[in-house]
Order: sequence, then C-alpha cells, then structure tokens
Amino acid sequence: MVHTERVTIETRGENDLHNLTDRVSDAIRSSGLEAGIVTVFVAHSTAAITISEYERGLIEDVRRPLERIAPADEGYLHNRLNADDNAHSHLLSSIIGPSVTVPFSDGSLLLGAWQGITLLELDTHPRRRQVIFQVIGA
Ligand code: ZN
Repeated sequence: MVHTERVTIETRGENDLHNLTDRVSDAIRSSGLEAGIVTVFVAHSTAAITISEYERGLIEDVRRPLERIAPADEGYLHNRLNADDNAHSHLLSSIIGPSVTVPFSDGSLLLGAWQGITLLELDTHPRRRQVIFQVIGA
C-alpha cells in the first residue's frame, strides 16, 4: 500500500534547517502501515533533504562547508543569463539531493539516535516549500 502526504514549510532563507522527523513519524502513523520505507522529497531545485543531527551548533555550522563547496559569487552563467542570484543554491541542491528514503518497522523510523530528517533551504530568500512524504509498506 502507498500513502502520500504533502506539507508546506515556510523557510527563513539561506541555510535554514528544519527538522521534519516528527512530521514524518506522524505520516507513518496516519498510513496505518507497520513496516516499509518512507521517501521524503522536496519539489524544488534550490532546497535539499538530508539527514543530520539537529542541534544548535550544526544548525550554524552547515553554512561554512556549503560556502566553500559553492561560493555565492563565482560569476555563474545561470545568474547572468537569468538575472538571478541563486546559481550556487541550485548547484548545492543538485549535490545534496532532493530526497532521502528511510526504513520503518513496528510503525517507527529506524533512524540512529542522532539522525534527524531535515529540509535545508539553499535559496537566497525565504521560500514556501512543498515537501512530499510517501510511505510504502504493509
Ligand atoms: Zn535560479
């Protein structure tokens, strides 16, 4: 059986990290399924879904490696051709990816103690994000 939910998340702009773990657990509960997998997918090209410990230090630390991997001001063609400012956001979204899939059993996510399912905003300004939870199991 397949159970699909869509949620809307308002972000505060670049590097805003949202913990979705409780909402994903709620979706599994609503599905009534006992065991299977849940895919968490963000339907945008300047955001990402990842797994991270959700803690004050890391919420701040996340910006530094991202700035090193794709600095904002590299003379990107995307920005010049589209009068845009978020080429680095698109590139980081591609690298990190738009989804994760996590197994669950006895109705509970099989995450490690410090793993949280997170939405990472990569765009340069606050955005409204559509996130899809698709639960597949029995
Ligand atoms: Zn763009």
